[in-house]
Amino acid sequence: MKLSEVTLSHHYADLGDVFGALVAPTPFSQPQVIDVNPAVLQLLGIDPNEKSEPAWAQLGCGAKLFNGSRPFAMKYTGHQFGVYNPELGDGRALLLGEIETGGQRWELHLKGAGKTPYSRFGDGRAVLRSTIREYLACEALYGLGIPSTRALCLIGSDERVTREKIETGAMLIRVAESHVRFGHFEYFFYTKQLEALRTLIGITCQRFVPGTEGLTTGEQAEALLRFTTRRSAELVASWQSVGFAHGVLNTDNMSIIGDTFDYGPYAFLDDYDSTFICNHSDHTGRYAFEQQPGVVLWNLNALAHALSAFISVEVLRDCLEQFEPAVSEAYAHRMRVKLGLAQEEAGDQALCADLLQLLQQGQVDYTLFFRALAHYRGERPASALLDLLKPAHHSGLEQWLQHYDRRLARENSDTRERNRAMLTANPKYILRNYLAQKVIEAAEEGDYHPLRTLRQLLQSPFAENPEHEVWASAPPESGKRLPLSCSS
Ligand code: AMP
Ligand code: MG
Ligand code: MG
Repeated sequence: MKLSEVTLSHHYADLGDVFGALVAPTPFSQPQVIDVNPAVLQLLGIDPNEKSEPAWAQLGCGAKLFNGSRPFAMKYTGHQFGVYNPELGDGRALLLGEIETGGQRWELHLKGAGKTPYSRFGDGRAVLRSTIREYLACEALYGLGIPSTRALCLIGSDERVTREKIETGAMLIRVAESHVRFGHFEYFFYTKQLEALRTLIGITCQRFVPGTEGLTTGEQAEALLRFTTRRSAELVASWQSVGFAHGVLNTDNMSIIGDTFDYGPYAFLDDYDSTFICNHSDHTGRYAFEQQPGVVLWNLNALAHALSAFISVEVLRDCLEQFEPAVSEAYAHRMRVKLGLAQEEAGDQALCADLLQLLQQGQVDYTLFFRALAHYRGERPASALLDLLKPAHHSGLEQWLQHYDRRLARENSDTRERNRAMLTANPKYILRNYLAQKVIEAAEEGDYHPLRTLRQLLQSPFAENPEHEVWASAPPESGKRLPLSCSS
């Protein structure tokens, strides 16, 4: 379809002002197209040749609206760092409407579009730095096979926006099947709007939870909680397997359908460190890498509490009890695939835990190690692997490799086939923070080529790209543990 033919529906705005507020965007006066994402154009059924910069500049900053668009700020609340905040909602983003294509419905959400009734003390804007980080991260996660919101386009401006320093404003159009967060349910529960809560449960089930039509609200709420618990368990397991730390797992940043949602001070691990805290504002390590499964369960408890208007505590508990086994199973599966193990054995968990301990002690780059392991053929010395560890840890790795060799022998798999499978499970390219920083600095100088190159590499993270080898390198020491705050 041509860009001019895109027509949006808007099921959420149809729900009325109990659910949010219609708000006109505040466009930029000098919008510049930084990137339009061809993969998302294709997803939405929009002609990929539709790269007309003037049209995107206008649509991407809210100066012009898609046909049928009714920009709508959604109301939600949520728990931030464990504390309930009743004042949340779309403070700087507007749900424009949905594109229905191929039996699917994709919501377009314009982020950085100006003040709304839920902006509190904020300016309604997003800075170029943080929109680039979100733009790249969703493509990186999606490229790794992990559910994520996507981004359609990224628009810059010369509008000055004050954060710790003066930056420039930018907007992106986020695309997702749903922008409903755990916090939407919390809002209606805590404000005792049970009819609206019933409606939200009903429409969410209708769209995403098969077999729930005709059920009572209580039955639907139970089915929804089971669905979200399973999706969230699979999501956090996949984060742990690729070394992704979200950084701000507040309940308003948790998608009801289990997408990675709302990218702030996230990080992919460079050196493996299970205790890593990527968010500088997280003084207690609530959202440290290894805490993520526990925190997601905490968030599911908050969701369950909001659903307790319709379900008994016994049933809620029963739903939530699925979480830990589901995480363990999904994580074990993902790690077996990373290790090239097709069958399951009792000792696999220990084999994996021993390796992670070795990586932690040796401060080894997580991604580089697994990519090198994907080329391992039992050779001695295993130089490509040993080179990633300091000599003090070589004997530890040697011991681990002996276990691994014996384990592989029991698999009875063809080495070349195993290598090939492992190369599709262990990425060559990940979104390291020092790379994001490099791209941001270039973009702040007006050069968007590095951003586009990195976006393309992250969209096919398992492919070799000899001419782009530099994007697969370990960070320099100064590029590790870059301080990231919630400022965005
Ligand atoms: P976040 O930390 O991005 O998850 O945002 C938490 C809440 O603050 C949400 O309600 C956002 O809409 C709101 N918010 C964040 N930044 C701004 C801003 N610059 N202006 C208005 N609201 C904001
Ligand atoms: Mg948020
Ligand atoms: Mg945010």
